Amino acid sequence: MARRRCVYEGREKDLFEGPGPGLLVQHFKDAAWVRRPRKVGVIDGKGVINNRISAYLMTRLTEIRVPTNFVRCLNMREQLIHEVEVLPVEVVVRNIAAGEFAEKFELTEGTVLPRSIIEFYLRSEDITDPLVSEEHMTAFGWASTHDIDDMVHLSMRVNDFMTGLFTGVGIRLVDFSLTFGRLYHEDDMRLVVADEISPDRCRLWDARTNEPMDKDRFARDLDNVVEGYREVATRLGILSELNNLSEAPGR
Ligand code: 5GP
Repeated sequence: MARRRCVYEGREKDLFEGPGPGLLVQHFKDAAWVRRPRKVGVIDGKGVINNRISAYLMTRLTEIRVPTNFVRCLNMREQLIHEVEVLPVEVVVRNIAAGEFAEKFELTEGTVLPRSIIEFYLRSEDITDPLVSEEHMTAFGWASTHDIDDMVHLSMRVNDFMTGLFTGVGIRLVDFSLTFGRLYHEDDMRLVVADEISPDRCRLWDARTNEPMDKDRFARDLDNVVEGYREVATRLGILSELNNLSEAPGR
């Protein structure tokens, strides 16, 4: 492993000290972790594909003026990011009923929702990520009403953009989760999309067959898990770029 300081060791990604103040290196691993049902494992090659897909989506979002903390790809498994103060809640946007959400509301999986639904979950190591309301977030100081307005507004823009992008390549964007962080610059602070946007964080179904092409393949013990991720990259037209990047040391 390269001689650099690890500032955060995550289940699926590590963060290393960056080349300057306020910069970090985000390293994508092949380790896989699912919260419901709890499952751990390895998906060979996932880190490389997620690094590329997330870089591509974050770049496209920046082009439509959705702020993110992504700076640039460094190599096959790593990208340079701005250091942010991550909010303790994550946003889930749902377009189609799936998973536990479908069960909870007694909907057939695949039912198109009357409109996109935004939910907030507490990010927690100790308890199983409970669904939280604006009341919880403001009372416990996890996010202000202004933060919540920003997160809703930005999440809807991300949803509109990504729904169109994926529809264009024959993929249904069922749902996805977003992490937000506070990016400080001089006297200014703004909320930005952080972490990653990848098949680890989105439910993506083939538009023709409704076959999952995301981490649900792993969660549900289906075969061809990494092939699903690879197919997403192929359809986005970024697989050839993937083949041109050099493998990073220390996977
Ligand atoms: P659900 O709440 O239905 O299990 O998942 C909703 C969305 O969150 C799905 O698109 C799924 O890919 C994503 N997701 C599932 N597990 C995680 C996780 O551990 N972290 C994050 N950020 N998103 C997740």
